[in-house]
Amino acid sequence: MTTPNKYKERILIVDDEKINIKILVDLLKDDYSLILARSGEQALKFSFQNPPPDLILLDVVMPEMGGYDVIKQLKENELSKDIPVIFVTALNSVEDEEHGLKLGAVDYITKPFSPPIVKMRIHNHLKFVHQHKLLDKLAYLDPLTEIPNRRRFDDVFQKEFSRATRNETALSTGMVDVDFFKQYNDHYGHAMGDRTLQGIASSLKYSLKRPADMVARYGGEEFVIILPETDSDAAMQVAERARRNVLALNIPHLYSVVADFVSVSIGIITFYPDKILTSVPSAESVLEQADKNLYIAKQNGRNRVVATVFGD
Ligand code: GH3
Ligand code: MG
Ligand code: MG
Repeated sequence: MTTPNKYKERILIVDDEKINIKILVDLLKDDYSLILARSGEQALKFSFQNPPPDLILLDVVMPEMGGYDVIKQLKENELSKDIPVIFVTALNSVEDEEHGLKLGAVDYITKPFSPPIVKMRIHNHLKFVHQHKLLDKLAYLDPLTEIPNRRRFDDVFQKEFSRATRNETALSTGMVDVDFFKQYNDHYGHAMGDRTLQGIASSLKYSLKRPADMVARYGGEEFVIILPETDSDAAMQVAERARRNVLALNIPHLYSVVADFVSVSIGIITFYPDKILTSVPSAESVLEQADKNLYIAKQNGRNRVVATVFGD
């Protein structure tokens, strides 16, 4: 089953007994990248990481937090609710199995188990996950620019907002809008307009350097960027780089009032979860503020970035 140089799926193994972990590690280490947790608390911590594990093998009976409590918390959290969980346990009654599956586990394996069969079952679940991801990828891609679409953005933004709030890390987001694009279409034609949107999408993508950064097409000639764990100064730098990169595509735009080439305006907002606010904001209200800053950038002359801190 080993394929060299292939992305190795990440499996989180949770068990309080060293010997049980060892059996699973020996069985799986050649094919998968393994993360080991000795307690429910550790399991949760590793599940909320980015990227999350692709699959969790979860023991039921553990001191402090047991497997049933762990899966409940996983299913309640936006960051972990879609990770498939397989219980691997010595509890072998029908009631136990039913309970585990009811809590949302995809499979229930009782110890002692047959290693080759467990290996196949894990392989099959991961294959299913992989196919599901491929379908998701298609449903989430904007056909014209081949970057993520608005649906994908909404999903990721909610997740990053939860993560930022949970970990108290800064989250920056930006709305990008092409300047005088109606004029561009009117004079150069819709086909050229489409090609220009493709160029801008690539340029924005190239302007983002960190793996968790994301640019999506929000609709029409509007794009949106997510910059997790990025403070206001850093976000301003990224947005400036993006703005300059688009301009440097040197796509002539004789009908733009602000530049000889196609340009964009960008509104950035940075949300600090630990900042004292009168009420807890929603992800939507943060995004609205980015849109307001975009509007100000347009008012102030276009081809520029306006960035503020949420709540200031
Ligand atoms: P501003 O600088 O204020 O943003 O002016 P604008 O002309 O860019 O703004 P407006 O919202 O009036 O026009 C947006 C234009 O973008 C309208 C439409 O012609 C064009 N557009 C939107 N989606 C597409 C698309 O998918 N392909 C093409 N070619 N053009 C599009
Ligand atoms: Mg617009
Ligand atoms: Mg525009």
